[in-house]
Amino acid sequence: MLADLVIPAAAPVTLPVRDSVKRFPVRRIWCIGRNYADHALEMGFDPEAEPPFFFSKPREAVVQDGAALAFPVATENLHHEVELVVALSSGGRDLDPETATDHVYGYAVGLDMTRRDLQADAKKHGRPWDMAKGFDESAPIGEIVPAAAIGHPTAGLISLDVNGERRQDGNLNQQIWPVNQALAYLSTLVELQAGDLLMTGTPAGVGAVRPGDSISCTIEGVGTLGISYLA
Ligand code: MN
Repeated sequence: MLADLVIPAAAPVTLPVRDSVKRFPVRRIWCIGRNYADHALEMGFDPEAEPPFFFSKPREAVVQDGAALAFPVATENLHHEVELVVALSSGGRDLDPETATDHVYGYAVGLDMTRRDLQADAKKHGRPWDMAKGFDESAPIGEIVPAAAIGHPTAGLISLDVNGERRQDGNLNQQIWPVNQALAYLSTLVELQAGDLLMTGTPAGVGAVRPGDSISCTIEGVGTLGISYLA
């Protein structure tokens, strides 16, 4: 039975599902860092040198496709990172990489918006990344496309344009930790759950966006995502 609550509970956060009237309920948003070698290099790191590492965003940071957003507060260096998003229909601990994608409901195109100036300051002082990565409206995500319809994409163009100009251009096959291995590794650290999302990292070409800019993203075989910032 439902507990009697002292304040109203937050509404569920959901995403549309392609060709369905039903929606996908978001539980947690996990993110992997530096998962494409060319992006690791542009950020000043050796892509061969480290195991995968993870951070998270609150589900309340989700933004729907097509949104026109106020420019975020507290940053003068807001960066775009286009990413393949994995949506789980089940989870578990210590998943086997051979069967980890059996837990995937579907995929989407996402943006890991980043207050790069706050992240640089956090890195410099050994502080958490939350305010750089998990701020309000930091997780625009497009419709979920069921794996039943498209399979499990392991290759394909992943790109991002700002105001119609190409900024990011990579291929899913450049991921250092492919989806099945990333899920298996993450499941040694937390028990994955139905509704969890994993943002799988961004290729090279991250850069700043400004008030008035429009961002459009495409992942071959998955779909598209577009947002804009008010001038
Ligand atoms: Mn990212």
